Amino acid sequence: MKIIYMERPSSLVSCIYCNVSFVDKIELRAHCQTDTHEMMIMSDDGHDWYWRPPPRGFKSDTYVLCENWRDSGSCRYGVQCVQAHGEDELIEWKERFHYREMKLQRAREKELFGED
Ligand SMILES: [Zn+2]
Ligand SMILES: [Zn+2]
Repeated sequence: MKIIYMERPSSLVSCIYCNVSFVDKIELRAHCQTDTHEMMIMSDDGHDWYWRPPPRGFKSDTYVLCENWRDSGSCRYGVQCVQAHGEDELIEWKERFHYREMKLQRAREKELFGED
C-alpha cells in the first residue's frame, strides 16, 4: 500500500497589505496585478490624519502654503484648493507623502508591487 502525502504548500505566501494568503507565488503575483492591491499600497490608510488629504499628482516638494489663506485666512477654492491651508496642513501633507513612499518602497523590496 502506497501512502500518498498531501502536497502541502511549504510556505504560504501572503500579502501583508491586503491581509490575504495564497498557496504559491504565482497566485500572489496575480494578486499584485489587481487594482485593489495597488490601491492598498498607494493609500495612506493605517494612520490617523488630521488635515485634508494632499492633492494627488503632486510631489512633496511642490506642496506650498496657499497665499490667499496665509494673507486673509480664507480661500475661494475652499477644500478644493491644492495648496495647504496652514503650516500644520503643509507639514502633514509632506508626512503623508513620505508615508506612502515608504509603503511603496517596502512593497518593492518584498516584491509585492505589481510593476515588473
Ligand atoms: Zn495585496
Ligand atoms: Zn487655498
